[in-house]
Amino acid sequence: MSDVPTTATPPLRHETTAGNYFVANYPPFAFWKPEFVGQFEAALDRPRLTLDSQRSTIFGQYVHIPFCRKRCHFCYFKVYTDKDSSEVRGYLDALLSELNVYARKPAIRGRKPRFVYFGGGTPSYLSPDQLNFLTDGMKRLLSWEEVEEVTFEAEPGTLTDHKLKAIRDLGVTRLSLGIEHFDDHILEINGRAHRSKEIARAYAFAREIGFPQINIDLIAGMVEETEDKWRETVAKAVALRPDSVTIYQMEVPFNTGIYQQMKAGGKLVAPVADWETKRAWVNYAYGEFEKIGYTVTSGTTVVRDPAQVKFIYRAGLFSGADILSIGVASFGHLGGVHYQNHHEFQPYVDAVNNGKLPVYRALTPSAEERYLREFMLGLKLGSVSADHYTKKFGVDPRVQFAAPLATLSAWGFLTNGGDRIGVTREGLLQIDRLLHEFFEPEHKTGRYA
Ligand code: SF4
Repeated sequence: MSDVPTTATPPLRHETTAGNYFVANYPPFAFWKPEFVGQFEAALDRPRLTLDSQRSTIFGQYVHIPFCRKRCHFCYFKVYTDKDSSEVRGYLDALLSELNVYARKPAIRGRKPRFVYFGGGTPSYLSPDQLNFLTDGMKRLLSWEEVEEVTFEAEPGTLTDHKLKAIRDLGVTRLSLGIEHFDDHILEINGRAHRSKEIARAYAFAREIGFPQINIDLIAGMVEETEDKWRETVAKAVALRPDSVTIYQMEVPFNTGIYQQMKAGGKLVAPVADWETKRAWVNYAYGEFEKIGYTVTSGTTVVRDPAQVKFIYRAGLFSGADILSIGVASFGHLGGVHYQNHHEFQPYVDAVNNGKLPVYRALTPSAEERYLREFMLGLKLGSVSADHYTKKFGVDPRVQFAAPLATLSAWGFLTNGGDRIGVTREGLLQIDRLLHEFFEPEHKTGRYA
């Protein structure tokens, strides 16, 4: 852990400069290594029912679809905009071959996922026939009979009525619409493929055919965002009454089109709002949703009715579930080992076609790192129970993480009361950068990607 607080005030960043700040996992991906892949293969060969804790571990699946109609200028994922239908079909075959190998492994055989998540890229890029081919094959290999939640990310411009019906019919319970903004000029200048008309049509039809949950994604601080435009976007989002809203603050990682333009122009500061402004915009959005009864449930989400609207995938991801991830560049966690697949299309497909697991790097976190990961991800939800972590990891988090908690407390970002360790609204709006206070010293220096 880090030592006692070294600054009386947090080291605030103002301008948006290039780099990732979002904490999605721990230890950082840069510490997952090809030489640890053998640890993952060994975990797959261990029968899972050896320990009580393993029997109770939640199991789910993640499927990565790396295709998009167009590359957004802020996108930092590996996506493909030029694959023809035979290459897409080849990819779907590879996904099923990969799953077929896993389904026979002692650690997976006979397990039934509780959740399935289709992420990307753009899963809704696939046609109804392609989607049915993929999901029928998946269900044959690992039964969906205990699946409680199927999440599906969609780009509004890809959603015809026919496709939305097909997505609903294959069992999707949570449709996640990548809206990002409602203003056509902002969408265009940021390289999004869809426009506001397509959002309205897709949302209305998705509601009509009864998806149990619809989440919409927004981004605060896109290129050319203004206070007025953001307020209009929030008003339109409020009018839709989605079940949940995810709001990201624009960041500009190095592998984005925006960064390439900055570099070409010799600029260090990204052409987007500064961090204080982005936080204020997200806070404004939270306030507008709270006025109509929504609850802030994390640094990035508001939910209409937390008693009804659950997100099992995120709960599993944050609490160390076994997540069998397939597809190029996807990352998962099984039997205590994190792993990530090859992040280039052809090496991924070639490995699978040669009967190999396409795993590129892995990491077995130590017990302390597992604790740290779960605790940090828990703080992203705004409030955690000390007792829960004490029972799970054997040490009270107020002891285990005394120094970074003291730092956050000294900065005024914690609300401690009894069993709860809470984060203030101001803290929640910048939680990802605050979490770096918890990192082990060797991980603070590592590239976070
Ligand atoms: S739709 Fe998403 S994954 Fe595709 S290019 Fe845009 S940001 Fe990247």
